[in-house]
Amino acid sequence: MRSLALGKILGIKIELHWSFLLVIFFILISVAVVKPQAFIPTTMVFFFLFLSVFLHELTHSVVSLTRGIKVLKIVLLPIGGVALTDELPDKPKDEFLISISGPLFNFLVVFLVLTSASLASLPFPWHIFTESFSVSEFENAIYTYPLFAIFYVNLILGAFNLFLPALPLDGGRVLRSLLSMKLGYLKATKLVTMLSGFVSVLLFFVGVFAGSLLLVVIAAFIFFGAKEEERIIEAKEMIKHIRIEDLLDKKPIILEASIPLALAVEELLSENRLACLVDLGNNRYAIFDLNELPEGADLRVPLARYARYAEPIDVHTAADKVLERFLTRGYSLIPVFASGQLVGAISLEALENAYRLAKIKRMLQSSFRQR
Ligand SMILES: [Zn+2]
Repeated sequence: MRSLALGKILGIKIELHWSFLLVIFFILISVAVVKPQAFIPTTMVFFFLFLSVFLHELTHSVVSLTRGIKVLKIVLLPIGGVALTDELPDKPKDEFLISISGPLFNFLVVFLVLTSASLASLPFPWHIFTESFSVSEFENAIYTYPLFAIFYVNLILGAFNLFLPALPLDGGRVLRSLLSMKLGYLKATKLVTMLSGFVSVLLFFVGVFAGSLLLVVIAAFIFFGAKEEERIIEAKEMIKHIRIEDLLDKKPIILEASIPLALAVEELLSENRLACLVDLGNNRYAIFDLNELPEGADLRVPLARYARYAEPIDVHTAADKVLERFLTRGYSLIPVFASGQLVGAISLEALENAYRLAKIKRMLQSSFRQR
C-alpha cells in the first residue's frame, strides 16, 4: 500500500492513499475528454470530498487523543479513511465514542449547510427536496451549487459509514462496542463479522445488478476487512495470558549506529539472524531489519541510515498489547526494558510462534474433551 505523505497535524502523519489519487486522476481525465465544461465543477466536488474525508478522520483522531489513545497516521481513501492508532480501544465506551464521532461530524456539516443556506438565503437547490428530478438535473445541482455539493458529500459519507453495520466501517464498530458491553469483545466481534459477511454479499449483488463498480469494491473491502479484524481479535485473545518474559531474547545482537552497513549485514548473516538492535546512545535503540534493506543499497554508509527508532516496551506489557504494537508500527523486533534498562528484545516471530502453540494447545484440549 503506497501512500503520498501530505504533512503532519497534531503529531499525526497525513497520507493520501494511491487509490484516491488513481480515482481522482481517472475521473478528471475522463471528464476533461468527454465533458470539458464539467471539469472545474468535478474538481471542486472532489476537493470537498477530500476535505470531508480528512475532517471525518481528524474528528476520530481528536476523540482518540482525548481518550488517551495515540494516533500515528491518517490514510485518506476515496470512501473514507483510516486512522492508525497506537493501540486499539479496550473499553467499549472509548470505541463507541471514537467510531461515532466521524459520521456525527459529517451530519453536523449537513445540518450547518441546511440551516445557514436557509437563514442567510444562500443559493441552494431546495427544489431537489420537493420536486422529482432526473439524474442530470441532480448532477447539475451538485455542479452549480457548492453548498449542495458539500451537503451531498457529507450526507453520503456520514450515512455510508454509520448505517452499514459492518466492520471495518464505523457502523460496525459502533455496533460491536454496544454488543461488547453485553457479550464481551470476542463474541461481539464474531457476531459483527458474520453480519459484515451478509452485508458484503448483499452489497456485491446490488452492485452487480446496478452495474456499480464502486459498490462491488466496497463489498470486497468490507469482506476482507472484517475477516482481518476477526483474525487479529482472535490472535489477541489467544495470547493474552502469555508473559513477554518467556518469549524474550535475552541476548539480542546490538550494533553501534556508526559502523558501516556492510559490517552489520555480515554480522547478521554470520549469526543467522534477520534483525538486530542498534544502539543510539542515551538508552535509546533502533532496529535494523535485513528485510527492509533496499536492493542496491550502498553498503559503505553508516548503519544508522537504515536503522529506525523503535519505542521500547516494558517487560510486563501484556502480549496482546505487544502484538498490537507490532501490527500498528510494522516492526519485526522491539527492545524490551525493565525499570528503564534494556533487558532484551522480542521478535514478531516469537510472538507468532507463541500464538500458533496456544492455538494448537486449545485444539488438543477440545479434542481430549471430545473423547
Ligand atoms: Zn470513520
